[in-house]
Amino acid sequence: MTMRLHSLRARIAFVFVVMMLVVQAAAYVAINSVIDANARKNIKEQLSVAERVFRQVLAGDDEKLTQASSVIASDFGFRQAVASRDDATVASALQNYGGRIGADVVMLVGLDGKLIATQDGPALNHPAFDFPHLIAQAAAGGQATSTGLINGHAYDLVAVPVKAPVAIAWVVMGFVIDDKLAAEMARLTSLDISFLHQRPDGQWTVLATSRSPRSPRAGSERTAPAVGGAPRTVIPDRAWMDADSPYISRVVPLATSGKPMIVLLQRSMAEAMSTVRHLHTLLLSVTLCGVLFSIIGSLFIARSVTRPLAVLSQFSRRIANGDYAEPLKESGKDEIGALAGSFNLMQQGIAERERKISELAFMDGLTNLPNRAMFNDQLERALATAKRAVDPVSVMMMDLDRFKYVNDALGHSVGDLLLGEVAIRLKQALPRETDIVARLGGDEFAVMLPGTDLQGAKVVAARILKALEMPTMIESQLVDIGASIGIVTFPRDGADMDVLMRHADIAMYTAKRTNSGYALYDEKHDQKSALRLSLMGELRQAVEHDQLTLYYQPKVDLATQRVKYVEALVRWDHPTRGFVAPDEFIPFAEQTGYIKTISRWVANRAIAQCAKWRAEGIDLAISVNVSARELIQSTLPEIFAELLMRHGVPAHSIWIEVTESAIMDDPNHAIETLDRLHAMGIRLSIDDFGTGYSSLSYLKRMPVDELKIDKSFVMGMATHKDDETIVRSTINLGHNMGLKVVAEGVETEEMLEQLRLLDCDLAQGYHISRPLPPEKLETWLQEWARNVDAGKLATATATAAAVPA
Ligand code: C2E
Ligand code: MG
Ligand code: MG
Repeated sequence: MTMRLHSLRARIAFVFVVMMLVVQAAAYVAINSVIDANARKNIKEQLSVAERVFRQVLAGDDEKLTQASSVIASDFGFRQAVASRDDATVASALQNYGGRIGADVVMLVGLDGKLIATQDGPALNHPAFDFPHLIAQAAAGGQATSTGLINGHAYDLVAVPVKAPVAIAWVVMGFVIDDKLAAEMARLTSLDISFLHQRPDGQWTVLATSRSPRSPRAGSERTAPAVGGAPRTVIPDRAWMDADSPYISRVVPLATSGKPMIVLLQRSMAEAMSTVRHLHTLLLSVTLCGVLFSIIGSLFIARSVTRPLAVLSQFSRRIANGDYAEPLKESGKDEIGALAGSFNLMQQGIAERERKISELAFMDGLTNLPNRAMFNDQLERALATAKRAVDPVSVMMMDLDRFKYVNDALGHSVGDLLLGEVAIRLKQALPRETDIVARLGGDEFAVMLPGTDLQGAKVVAARILKALEMPTMIESQLVDIGASIGIVTFPRDGADMDVLMRHADIAMYTAKRTNSGYALYDEKHDQKSALRLSLMGELRQAVEHDQLTLYYQPKVDLATQRVKYVEALVRWDHPTRGFVAPDEFIPFAEQTGYIKTISRWVANRAIAQCAKWRAEGIDLAISVNVSARELIQSTLPEIFAELLMRHGVPAHSIWIEVTESAIMDDPNHAIETLDRLHAMGIRLSIDDFGTGYSSLSYLKRMPVDELKIDKSFVMGMATHKDDETIVRSTINLGHNMGLKVVAEGVETEEMLEQLRLLDCDLAQGYHISRPLPPEKLETWLQEWARNVDAGKLATATATAAAVPA
């Protein structure tokens, strides 16, 4: 387990360790100095006690000597012997009495200060007594004690007078101060005791000592200079402080007659310190233990603080990675536990918000279906899986028919409810759990069928259409809706999502255009649209370079055989592609808005042609096709008014054709513009009638003058009974509403005959004439009129085929 230097854990541990070290060191120093001071005090006390003991022992000895000396001095016989100077008797008495107390020396000193006798016998030549000072003291005080050196040995001496009744001599008695005495004293004081005296040369000599072997380092040299009437306690501190000195000493000067003499009380450092040293080691080990424990403790605390932090930071990393699955286990009731609790709350909050956000981002709020983003995502995944497993995936793009009409006619709330209903039906129509339906926007839906091939997809598409067929009751209104579905399959129609979706879109538009419910993607559609795309770029130049022309197709009055109406149809004479049919560029011009330019051009050209014909005496009303898109917020009425004015053409000579399905996509706006055009006198024709699901109520509201039955019904009339029925009822409907009815797409004589029988008003079609340029139309008109006049209608229609389009 590594610990980085700047980590919180390292810092906490560091602070704790340093703190504990400081505390331990301070305690160590403090306790140490107390121990030392104590030891010092102890030794001092020991030394002063020892000095007292020593003095008492010495005093006791002196007392013994004084008593024994007094006994001799007061002995009558002895006094007589002294008085009579019987030296031999004196000597034997001295020996006798001295022996009783074991004195080492016993002497008699005369008043003249000369030695008379010792315990060994009368003194020869009576030498002078070595310690006259002692005698002088005794003479003054009645008795005296002192130490002195005799024959190189130290003695404790006592002097008392021999009185008869005045002092006639002095008895001096003493104990030798030797190693034995020193050892005895040492035993009593538990100190080392040495006696030293100063030689005439100033050097100190050991006279007796308890220490053995006699050490030259008795400390004498050190202590010596301080002796001589100086303070009684000398230098022990210095000795104590001096690490060199193995002894602590106290110097006691002795009362002496002659050269100075001292007693050295000594304590062995090693011995004195042995208990202290023990304490020291104990203290040191306690301190070290303390330091060790504090290190371990601080590491533990640091760990207990940082471990939960590490857990929390790991947890927050998990949150950062979007993992909200597992909450943090709350550990304990402390602050960290509380923090863990807040983290859990935060996690729940984030998870909840993220759920909402992704719902907003990936779900459609209205239908609760996945939205486009989610659909794309799912499709991408399904394709990835399908690629690996070599499985088909089918995709459907669906657009509701007439939704705009529902929205406008019944209101947006109904529209919204309808979308919700459609979503429910779509979901129910999907056979498998894994199938996905999404709302791409507006009334556009998409369906993904993983593992389903084209055949399966067709079945599902049929089910969907059937499910939508059933009318829906929304807010007590019966709403009828249909849909167009484009179907593609992976890998047949594309290898990736973008291609598949684009192809599905194209297929869906095919379905819409052909009104076939659903359509499969066909490469030809795409080629066409590619062609259209390139045409788009060139369309702009078409007007500028005068590549457009108008062709005119006549409408024959079935009752009179006369031609009073023609329809203007635009043609694009492309410099390289030749003729381009309007179906190929009009829808795209509508998408780009370029249709406005084209319409203006067409209107101008048609009205100009009308004026020209009128000038030539040809009375023809011209129908102009107008895109429904242009009817929304349109300036079309103003444009037409201006053109009619400019060319001096009456408004009733101009008709406008609008396809039914286009109007029904946005009827309200269309009606408004149509009303304005109608008010001007321009008449209105509903083109391709029957394909657009227009309701009669709308038809009633519109200023319509003419219905043009879609050519698909007219052309199917001969073979399909249904188509015939539609044509018949449309004619009836139109007539009932007071409208003129036109049949377009009349290709055969039979159709013409049938329409005549059905009481259709006008007929238009290749059988009568193809759309023709103006000059050719003029020729055709003359021919036609001639034939009609001659009553040869059959010939007239035959001419039509002769004139090429
Ligand atoms: P539409 O208005 O329904 O025009 C009738 C279409 O049917 C014309 O096709 C015409 O050539 C064709 N047709 C006429 N008789 C027969 C027949 O007996 N059999 C068959 N199979 N077809 C016949 P065209 O000229 O290709 O025009 C196609 C559509 O393009 C028109 O349908 C119209 O919606 C649109 N269009 C044409 N010119 C214009 C224009 O100037 N402006 C606008 N906005 N649309 C136009
Ligand atoms: Mg038309
Ligand atoms: Mg038509």
